[in-house]
Amino acid sequence: FRESNPKRIPLLIFKIPIFKQPNTRYDMSSRRDFVKKTALVTAGIALAPTLAYGGTKTTKDILRVALIGVGLRGTNHLTNLLQRKDVTVEAICDIDSTRITIAKEHIAKAGFKAPKVFGKDDYDYRNLLEDKNIDAVIISTPWLWHTRMAVDAMKAGKYTGVEVSAANTMEECWDLVNTHEETGSHLMILENVNYRRDILAVLNMVRQEVFGELIHFRCGYQHDLRFVKLNDGVTPYGKGVEFGEKGISESKWRTQHSLLRNGDVYPTHGVGPMATMCNINRGNRFMSMTSHATKAVGLKKYIIENGGKDHPNAKLNWKQGDVITSTIDTANGETIIVTHDCNSPRPYSLGFRVQGSQGLWEVDGSRIYIEGKSEPHRWDDAKAWLDKYDHPLWKKYGEYATGSGHGGMDFFVLNAFVESAKENLAPPLDAYDAAAWSAITPLSEASIANNGEPQDFPDFTRGLWVRRKPYNWIKDTY
Ligand code: NAD
Repeated sequence: FRESNPKRIPLLIFKIPIFKQPNTRYDMSSRRDFVKKTALVTAGIALAPTLAYGGTKTTKDILRVALIGVGLRGTNHLTNLLQRKDVTVEAICDIDSTRITIAKEHIAKAGFKAPKVFGKDDYDYRNLLEDKNIDAVIISTPWLWHTRMAVDAMKAGKYTGVEVSAANTMEECWDLVNTHEETGSHLMILENVNYRRDILAVLNMVRQEVFGELIHFRCGYQHDLRFVKLNDGVTPYGKGVEFGEKGISESKWRTQHSLLRNGDVYPTHGVGPMATMCNINRGNRFMSMTSHATKAVGLKKYIIENGGKDHPNAKLNWKQGDVITSTIDTANGETIIVTHDCNSPRPYSLGFRVQGSQGLWEVDGSRIYIEGKSEPHRWDDAKAWLDKYDHPLWKKYGEYATGSGHGGMDFFVLNAFVESAKENLAPPLDAYDAAAWSAITPLSEASIANNGEPQDFPDFTRGLWVRRKPYNWIKDTY
């Protein structure tokens, strides 16, 4: 199905706060020396040089960025970019002219020169990519555009950031890896949850072996997204029962995945942080996965309750099971349970659990138990632990992050992208991560379609995961 529509108005799936002081731009130059000093260390640790595909290291003071897709997410990236003194926004592309207008207003208000504008049709982004004055692009379009845009961007020599998920099919996963290796252009999957404050504190605890030897993880995307909408300006928020052409924002394109696909279509917010903790593609890898889906009742019930049983959408047969549960086996003997749950009434939770031989953290209930430290059989409130192990990145840059969106993590993911791109270094979350995490979507569909049959993950690193070193999240600057 076709995902683009010039008339779309994006949906506020997340409420994204913008900076309170839009004219105050970060001066990151104070940390440039720090970045430079650590760059070589970073390169050594992060890239594992034998495996480092990528062009020559550069040191740019100013990164010239373009945005493809300036819907809600792209605009969030834009407003965060506009806070920085080490970035210029050279071009924007969106097929929705109302989004272009909003983006141009943000840019003008921040005192930047007017950007070049693209978006006359679905493939006008390719004209943007021809511009030699653009160093890096950020892709925030609907899912089915991600891989083809990222592949084109890498082929055009751009340092490429792509929103989550990165790919929809196994072929697309390989396209990302192959294009990265063939072109030497870097790809970063812009998984902001990897930078959540509690996640980085728990990563800090993992690296210091507070949980002992890791054995098990749970995670997922559990977010009530039933708010399929009617774009009539009258129906109250959360009561609409339309999607596609009649919907607004993400209901223009996202809801349709629930109609047509029975699989975990949004795995990376959950699995990304867990994969980093257990060093996937860097000493460990996903081996195989089984997936199971419940029946689909949530959207039909919601439409009948809000639109009536005679509404045409009440007759649709939704394909995506309401709760999809996948269990991944890793090469190092851990299991990871990943849940997708977006069509039921429920409060938001990514459901994290990180468990080792010495204890565990659970995000729901915000609790930690460490044998020998906690009272036997009693949970500790996680807060004191998370404060104690607050990640150096948050200690150092927490003030910059305030107001950037999603509790501050949006600052960090963008900062990692910009700093990596300025140096043309491999990003912390790279093409192999993008491929391995996104592969959960097609593999879950295949497993569910075959009664839970185990599906093997391809080894996107072609054996090199054995020698690739973990990214050093503690010492590195981003
Ligand atoms: P959206 O619908 O608001 O924005 C998508 C934009 O892409 C629209 O403005 C649309 O006009 C534009 N577009 C579509 N096809 C295009 C084309 N061919 N060329 C140029 N522009 C095109 O959706 P969104 O909420 O901004 O989501 C965008 C992406 O960001 C999705 O992949 C979503 O999953 C992701 N996202 C991530 C987070 C996060 O926390 N990391 C949060 C929200 C969304």
